[in-house]
Amino acid sequence: MTEHFAEGELIGVLTAEPLDRVLDYRAPPGGAWLGAFVEVPLGPRKVIGVVWGPGRGDWDPAKVRAAFRVIDAAPMRAELREFLTRAGAYTLTPLSAMLRLATRVPGLGQPPGMRKVYRLGRSEPQRMTDARTRVLEVLREFGGAGLILKELADQAGVGTSVVKGLVAQGAVDEVESPRDTPYPALDPARPGKALTEDQARAAQALGHGVRSGAFGATLLKGVTGSGKTEVYLEAVAATLSAGRQALVLLPEIALTSEFLSRVEARFGARPAEWHSGVTMTERRRCWRMIGEGGASLVVGARSALFLPFQNLGLIVIDEEHDSSYKQEDGALYNARDMAVLRGSIVGAQVVMASATPSLETWANAKAGKYQRLDLPARFGTAVLPEMRVIDMRREDLPGSEWISPTLRQEIKARIERGEQSLLFLNRRGYAPVTICRACGHQIGCHHCDARMVEHRFQKRLMCHQCGETAPIPEACPECGVVGKLAAVGPGVERLAEEAAAVFPDARLAVLSSDLFGSARALKARIEEIAAGDADIIIGTQLVAKGHNFPKLTLVGAVDADLGLQGSDLRAAERTFQLMRQVSGRAGRAEAPGIAYLQSFQPDHRVIQAILSGEEEAFWAAEAAEREAAGMPPFGRLAGIVISAPDPAPAFDLGLQLARADGALRQAGAQVFGPAPAPIARVRGRHRVRMLVKAPKGVALQSAITKWLGGIKLTGGLRLSVDIDPQSFY
Ligand code: ADP
Ligand code: ZN
Repeated sequence: MTEHFAEGELIGVLTAEPLDRVLDYRAPPGGAWLGAFVEVPLGPRKVIGVVWGPGRGDWDPAKVRAAFRVIDAAPMRAELREFLTRAGAYTLTPLSAMLRLATRVPGLGQPPGMRKVYRLGRSEPQRMTDARTRVLEVLREFGGAGLILKELADQAGVGTSVVKGLVAQGAVDEVESPRDTPYPALDPARPGKALTEDQARAAQALGHGVRSGAFGATLLKGVTGSGKTEVYLEAVAATLSAGRQALVLLPEIALTSEFLSRVEARFGARPAEWHSGVTMTERRRCWRMIGEGGASLVVGARSALFLPFQNLGLIVIDEEHDSSYKQEDGALYNARDMAVLRGSIVGAQVVMASATPSLETWANAKAGKYQRLDLPARFGTAVLPEMRVIDMRREDLPGSEWISPTLRQEIKARIERGEQSLLFLNRRGYAPVTICRACGHQIGCHHCDARMVEHRFQKRLMCHQCGETAPIPEACPECGVVGKLAAVGPGVERLAEEAAAVFPDARLAVLSSDLFGSARALKARIEEIAAGDADIIIGTQLVAKGHNFPKLTLVGAVDADLGLQGSDLRAAERTFQLMRQVSGRAGRAEAPGIAYLQSFQPDHRVIQAILSGEEEAFWAAEAAEREAAGMPPFGRLAGIVISAPDPAPAFDLGLQLARADGALRQAGAQVFGPAPAPIARVRGRHRVRMLVKAPKGVALQSAITKWLGGIKLTGGLRLSVDIDPQSFY
């Protein structure tokens, strides 16, 4: 295929507009390279697209319009184009939507040059207003980083004139700053830490893979604190030494700051960052520099996988089992699987690090598809926490309290010794249910088939499905009786209340995603806690993800049974991962740790597996069960959700599809349903689920495409297909 199209030649341009084809244009003045970003007319508008190939020539040549110009950005490489094509085909996502993932960058069409940014000034404004305070707060929150005018105003929720007013008074500085400068070079030759024998062996194996210059996938399995990060930093070093780029994906933005410091300590400079917590100017700089080779290491969220790397040699997925790698909105993809796909296309090494790998990855390693490296011991004197169960059937505890006497004793002892305790409960808010003691009514969301969750700190009821909030009523909305509404069950806020009553002198810290306005605020709080500014930490799964609290020696899982109740395919796996992960927070430094699981079913096989730590046996048993049932990773699933403003049309479409299942049956797949989804209404839309199941070798995507090929979505109907679904709500 020609790589360059002369001016006027027919080119096919892919845009991020929801059209189902690549459009024909004439190449702009100066011609265009394959992969170039171009600006083209589309109806009355100008949009940006990518030269995807030669034009198809199936349009009236007189009507084919000319592209305006080539945009000043590195052309999209063949590797990324192929990745988007194949990832789109795998996830059944239209190519235009895939392109959108790869072009989520502000100011793509604007040339490089200077632009105005705003920073904290030296003087105080003469008169403080709420709006002004918010602007200054935003600037403080982002530290030294400059924000552009619109972004600053948006973040602070004020008009741009407020910012301009502060500039006039010297409270905010307006400075010209060059766009898109390269990131400081990282130096892989600086000495790393002296590795233990196990670590060195793993680092060497990864380095070997990197130097081969070829694709390879590795499960790096090691208990929390065993030095997985140290080891994959060596793989990063090998990648940088080979002159290639590296990407490290983390499941939680709050984790990046600790990681950035470690990179700086190891390589003498900070890497580029790509996630929702960085400013638009930084995002643009990161995107551009990745494409031009002005950034060698990116640390980011799952969307960083779609950056236009110039020469990608390594992708690390830290905490690879984490469910946040699955994008559940719009394009439904699993960043872990897509990382393997991109690595295989570009010839990069893919490292999946975890203490508790997903069953998929475990099975792939077992089958020899992935290399497996183990770090069996914690680094240094730190030992794995001892695990014990508290049999809640034997504890003397009133129904409205949740911290057992045994656990209270242990916490008390920690406070006396100046050590920290963590109470873990994976439930945000004060109470999951608010019930009327007069009529039995449970307060629900108007738009969803879900109960409203009381958030007492914010004094609101909140729907965790759609985010709707409402004041806590005095009277029952059903029967009108006043003063009979009661909170049922615990959330972290209620647990904090109980802890405060039991330990009035202890310093409490509640860590829950909804209690922090920004990732930075959360990060700051985590750093304070790590430094010792809390006796008891009460947290949701936010605390399970890799934070390092050196003074923490006790973990109490308040309700270890919580995840076991659902009929979810992954209930056992998730509970196992979460409990092991949370327990791993204890005893990271010198003092040994202990973890208690409060359980009403201490003999349950999952609880027993968590306690015994016989992981391989647990995975093997899980795998055998899934294999027998033909479930992933031994069989294939696709989740279908049909939704509509009314229940009947959604159900009718489901029935129609279930009857016309020839294409699926021919391919060897089966369809189940339709059935009302477990949460049958979300944001006012009624939801119906179907499940397609197939043996492993079946070409599931093409069968589904054929099956759904003829349907028309009218009357507000929507249909989404989730290949390899993780959630079934
Ligand atoms: P993981 O990623 O497996 O949880 P880390 O890489 O974060 O483990 O290591 C845990 C702690 O031990 C970190 O503070 C790390 O700096 C330290 N550590 C690990 N390996 C070494 C080593 N070989 N030399 C010095 N410190 C180490
Ligand atoms: Zn709702």
